[in-house]
Amino acid sequence: MKAVLLDEDGKVHYREIPTPKLQKGDILVQMKVCGLCGSDIEKLHGRYKGVPPIIGHEASGIVAKTNGVKNIEEGDRIFPHHHVPCYSCYYCKHGSPTMCSDYRRVHYDPGGFAEYFRFPRWNIEHRGLLKLPKGMSFEEASFIEPTACCIRALNRYRVKRNDRVIVIGAGPIGLTFIQLLKIIGAKAYASDLSEARLKAAKKFGAIEVFNPFEVDVPKHIKELTEGRGADIAIIASSSSKAIVQGFDGIRRGGRVGLFGVPAKGSVLEYDFSDLFNSEKSIISSNAATEEETKTALDYIHKKKIDVNSLITHKFKLKEFDKAVQIAAKAEAIKALITS
Ligand SMILES: [Zn+2]
Ligand SMILES: [Zn+2]
Repeated sequence: MKAVLLDEDGKVHYREIPTPKLQKGDILVQMKVCGLCGSDIEKLHGRYKGVPPIIGHEASGIVAKTNGVKNIEEGDRIFPHHHVPCYSCYYCKHGSPTMCSDYRRVHYDPGGFAEYFRFPRWNIEHRGLLKLPKGMSFEEASFIEPTACCIRALNRYRVKRNDRVIVIGAGPIGLTFIQLLKIIGAKAYASDLSEARLKAAKKFGAIEVFNPFEVDVPKHIKELTEGRGADIAIIASSSSKAIVQGFDGIRRGGRVGLFGVPAKGSVLEYDFSDLFNSEKSIISSNAATEEETKTALDYIHKKKIDVNSLITHKFKLKEFDKAVQIAAKAEAIKALITS
């Protein structure tokens, strides 16, 4: 079979490899669609380390083979969650399931950018597999994982109805946040360097959008919130400048939600006495669990959020390099890799 793999030399290669062998309890998934995520690109650039160098985690597909698994049939259309917690360790029982030592231990083998991948027994037994409802396309299902991560983040940032939220970075994640904020009844503002993305942010429900090339974002957000600043700033970008803008743009007692993957070694230049004096806090959110993936599937299936309009590019596996180049461009929103 063909696969795109991130090799030891830090480069991606599209090549022929043996189809993974199943152990008891595993299934083989035929990949239909796998979203290209910002974190994949960070891995390609060697900026996201300390995790297994596996790329492709936003997949949907068809069960091609099973090995002693109950209730899953060949031909089933599924969403396989690449990481699942154990639900019984200290972290799982104390509100940090995505920090569970088992969470990142297993993954798709060899990754989501492959014609087939092995989905391990561990993930199946820990409820990491969802069957797709009738009418949900594989493209839509490839958004379950990123949407779930956004849902968990909004819970962690404690976003409530009528909160004013500035979303910094209006890429696929920022635009998903804007749609989810609308469901909660919060008021969203968006900031991005790309006019195309700002236009999309408006379409998805942002009240006002700003381009930091043109306006001072923190100053502007204060003007729009009776001088206070936003309740929450969501950093849907990997730039440390965006985090500082977030701190400057929130009100006293406000929160900065850290979502975009900062490059390894990022240092923040910020006078943090302001955090204490103004009781500002920063909350990070990393990945998602079963509960949020179910909610994400439900929102996408019931068209509460529109993921199809986020897709601007589709590429075949062998065109992976092209997808990476396009995804870095401002006019792209979401690039999908298809089988
Ligand atoms: Zn992702
Ligand atoms: Zn655990």
